[in-house]
Amino acid sequence: MPQCELSGDSIYLDYHSTTPCDPRVAKAVAECLRDNYGNPASAHGLGERANSVVEESRQVIADHIGALPGELIFTSGATESNNLAICGLAYGAREFGSERNQVLVSTIEHKSVLKPARKLTSDGFEVHEVPVKSSGIIDLAALERLVTDQTLLVSVQAANNELGTIEPLSEVTSIAKECGAYVHCDAAQALGRMRLNVEDWLGDLLSISAHKAYGPKGIGALYSKGGPAALPLAPIIVGGGQERGLRGGTVNTPAVVGFAEACRIINQNFEDEVKRLSKLRDELEVTLCQELECAEVVGTREQRLVSTLNVRFHGVEADALLARLSGVALSTGSACEAGAPEPSHVLTAIGLDREAAEQCIRLAVGRFTSAEDVRKAASLIIGEVSELHSASAA
Ligand code: PMP
Repeated sequence: MPQCELSGDSIYLDYHSTTPCDPRVAKAVAECLRDNYGNPASAHGLGERANSVVEESRQVIADHIGALPGELIFTSGATESNNLAICGLAYGAREFGSERNQVLVSTIEHKSVLKPARKLTSDGFEVHEVPVKSSGIIDLAALERLVTDQTLLVSVQAANNELGTIEPLSEVTSIAKECGAYVHCDAAQALGRMRLNVEDWLGDLLSISAHKAYGPKGIGALYSKGGPAALPLAPIIVGGGQERGLRGGTVNTPAVVGFAEACRIINQNFEDEVKRLSKLRDELEVTLCQELECAEVVGTREQRLVSTLNVRFHGVEADALLARLSGVALSTGSACEAGAPEPSHVLTAIGLDREAAEQCIRLAVGRFTSAEDVRKAASLIIGEVSELHSASAA
């Protein structure tokens, strides 16, 4: 593990909301900010230099997911990539004369997929949410029933941000392709945590984001099979003609460089990192479940990201627990939903009622988590859960 003293005095176990920027990435970004300030679209020497740095980085990121550089459109992150994939394809296909008007998404998609999909209904699209099983894995039989020759797009995530569930993407793709639908995948949580190869997957659109993989915030990409001209994709941000007209706005050179550096680092150490994380996560899971009778793993243990543990403490309100756990940074679910009055849509979609959903916490280990962090965090959690139990019994 590279040495990295994380600032702050709590143990960081919230790697699914974001990851700390790897110091090697931060260094590359700082150097680029200093040396490569030209606008990559400018025709002079500084612009050309910035442009070649952007294109070298595009190649590295594309290689990392088995794509061609011309198949990547830089965006501000997975939220924008998801919006471009869903709305861009729906409106683009309509402009190209397609009469298909049905969009299918799974019920446990991130809100940056669900909300743009739901918005399409006001423009005459029919949107269906495909259920998942209690494991969090999509119900493929339901998908088969819902998909028709009117289906334009099927969007299913690679891995869930609350449960870590890994979805059966090849099966989803072959069901969708049999009806001639396009396939989009939100792979925000998958980057760096599982192998991602668009050549094996055969889908059409894939969203990634650097800050989930030790890169900078505010940079992501949308993979678009065969390059943007091969798909009926309409831009959602218009302005300059950057990114082949599909995403107006000056390309964020330092962030792109940081994104590429993050991918290089994943490549260097992928197998070891995955093994180390799964060992740490398992230790955390075993300790909590052995020491606390009320602990229960939520979702599936099998098809799950190596970093994730979602656990329910029966009888203990997660918000009350988090309020007492000042020494550990973790959350109950998506940071994008923090403060929402409703329980997590992911947890209710797998069949938990409100009370159960409000007793779950999400833990995630990452590159800078040590075995000592896991031991300390487990002991703090066990202490607080036990105290909350005794308080409620008194
Ligand atoms: N999809 C998933 C599954 C996520 O976990 C997140 C981040 N919470 C996003 C999309 C949004 O990513 P970004 O922050 O890059 O917009």
